[in-house]
Amino acid sequence: MMSNNTLPRIIYIAGTGRSGSTLLDVLLSSHAATFGTGELGSFFLEWGRGNRCSCGELYPECAFWGEVIERLKHVFPDLTPQMGEAISRRVEASSAPWRAPLRSRTHDRQRYASLWQAMMQAISDLSGRQVIVDSSKSSRPVARRISSLSKWAGFELFVIHLVRDPRALMWSAMRGSNRLLEANQKGTFRGGVLRALVGWNMTHASVHRDQIANTRLIRVRYEDFTADPAQTLKDLGGFLGLDMDMVIEQMAAERPFPSGHGVGGNRMRRQGPIHIKVDEEWKTALPQYARLLASFSWPLASRYGYDVL
Ligand SMILES: [Zn+2]
Repeated sequence: MMSNNTLPRIIYIAGTGRSGSTLLDVLLSSHAATFGTGELGSFFLEWGRGNRCSCGELYPECAFWGEVIERLKHVFPDLTPQMGEAISRRVEASSAPWRAPLRSRTHDRQRYASLWQAMMQAISDLSGRQVIVDSSKSSRPVARRISSLSKWAGFELFVIHLVRDPRALMWSAMRGSNRLLEANQKGTFRGGVLRALVGWNMTHASVHRDQIANTRLIRVRYEDFTADPAQTLKDLGGFLGLDMDMVIEQMAAERPFPSGHGVGGNRMRRQGPIHIKVDEEWKTALPQYARLLASFSWPLASRYGYDVL
């Protein structure tokens, strides 16, 4: 294994979706020392599905990712998106359905380390940046990505654990399905609220499980971030050892942020100047039964400072 200090550093945004991760990703990636990759853990899946980079191109045709793929092929000559996805999921997914024998697990981890070291090195070389922002978050397929990148591939990770009041996510899920119902789409059901709550608990529990002794972690509450983004960026700058003044200035002056080459659909919509609005609609709109359900999340919610009881 390569020694740690030759590898690029990784800023990892952990947590659930709809908690400001795309916004934070775009802001952190506009720093001169960093390169934002979006949801990098989904790269092979997105490539295989024929989805597009945030620049609008298919991954093999993108000016950036096309080059990354070429470089990966120096290490894995027969690389396909399916192969990259399989190597990644075998190590990163929340639980392997197979209990592989130790020898094959060691083999999986070695291949994982080769793939992701080559990947991060290519990203760093081609972008000319030493720090990579990876906002893969913490859903089941990437539930062990933090420890995997750190333990098996030897990266130094700075984890930003982004949290948001579970009731806001429940409302967000509810509003989403209401819109679909209004649009008369089939296949929607009212289970969205419960799913959002269960997802919130499972995802954050997996962040705690996946944290290993030597990873640095800072917790950021979405509510604090949207209330005072400049202060949050300053705090993060201290944690990351990066001066965020230019980023804060760019945000305050409402200068547009470039779309970059991010993986995952969300980043495509995040172009132009950033206007952060505080979304507290759930406080009046979330129905009583959903508030009662939310109280089941108290062990983690109270730890993050949310009074759900
Ligand atoms: Zn691109």
